[in-house]
Amino acid sequence: MNNYKLLTPGPLTTTETVKQEMLKDRCTWDDDYKNVTQSIRKQLLELAQVKESDYTAVLMQGSGSFVVESVLTTVVGEGDKILIITNGAYGERIGEMAKVLKLQHTVYSVPYNEQPSPLEVKALLENDSTITHVAVVHCETTTGTLNPIAEIGSAVKELNKTFIVDAMSSFGGVPMDVSALGIDYLISSANKCIQGVPGFGFVIARIEELEKCKGRARSVALDLYNQWEVMKLDGKWRFTSPTHVVAAFAKALEELAEEGGIHARSERYANNNHILRSRLKALGFNAYISEELQSPIITTFLFPYEGFSFEHFYSAMKKAGFVIYPGKLTDVDTFRIGNIGDIHEDDMTTLCKVIENYMVVMNNEG
Ligand SMILES: *Cc1c(COP(=O)(O)O)cnc(C)c1O
Repeated sequence: MNNYKLLTPGPLTTTETVKQEMLKDRCTWDDDYKNVTQSIRKQLLELAQVKESDYTAVLMQGSGSFVVESVLTTVVGEGDKILIITNGAYGERIGEMAKVLKLQHTVYSVPYNEQPSPLEVKALLENDSTITHVAVVHCETTTGTLNPIAEIGSAVKELNKTFIVDAMSSFGGVPMDVSALGIDYLISSANKCIQGVPGFGFVIARIEELEKCKGRARSVALDLYNQWEVMKLDGKWRFTSPTHVVAAFAKALEELAEEGGIHARSERYANNNHILRSRLKALGFNAYISEELQSPIITTFLFPYEGFSFEHFYSAMKKAGFVIYPGKLTDVDTFRIGNIGDIHEDDMTTLCKVIENYMVVMNNEG
């Protein structure tokens, strides 16, 4: 297999040093390992800018979706009802989970190229007092849209509802003051902006809220409350923990701090994204969403001309050392390029040069 850089928003390109951490086997119940877990939990709270007296970090085995499902099954109780906001496939996945878990729910859905309206959220909450929880995706990775969670959060808090945010592809890459945003449960995973490898996710939970959730989950393995109860004592995971992945994640957190924290990382990502968007635009690749909605994480591009073959483009990029992402839209032909991970300005300029050359060849042939 050739080496290539992943321009996919998780799993993403990680550093050699993060990968090297996985060469050792670690014992799940030994203090050394449990201390690694405790230190990760503490650092996550710092990144979320929250106090240890108000919030707790709970790690959960599985990919990001497992952790979203874990929150839903643990916090939305029998008599509760959740409002799910969607403008992309990840929001819709929350809706799918609510359906399968048989949660009482209602969906506020807007087109993929628009942001949900905080005023509309407020109106929906005012018109249905049975709603107890609200869930929204921060960066909709389907399109790259950054949703207005601050404004939505203030509507949710004004009406005293529990606020759940899927910040999977943004946490660590975009500064977030979790308590100021009114977030009760923030969900993210190891293999996104913190630049670890896949295998677990985490929840930054308001303690006062999580404390109410004992016995609510309709799942044993995904019971976030029980996971917290065990983990908070001394860092022990219930069931087998992904030891290699956890060790790699601890290293990734160290490297995030060395880079200068979330602010520095978000600037690198924004710069990557700016180079990508502007240079591709000059080549005739238009982004699916307008610049004001664009996150610094991933960009969805429309096919540049009729007859454009994604498969052909994909293999040319792969040959040049970059793996890109297919689109996830049903009505228009798109593809996606992520710019998070251990990806720097020189990677972006190399990629843009490769695409420029591709277009020259295609123009000559076409
Ligand atoms: C990556 C991602 C997820 C989780 O996807 P998994 O494939 O389960 O890791 C959920 N929500 C968003 C917004 C994501 O970007």
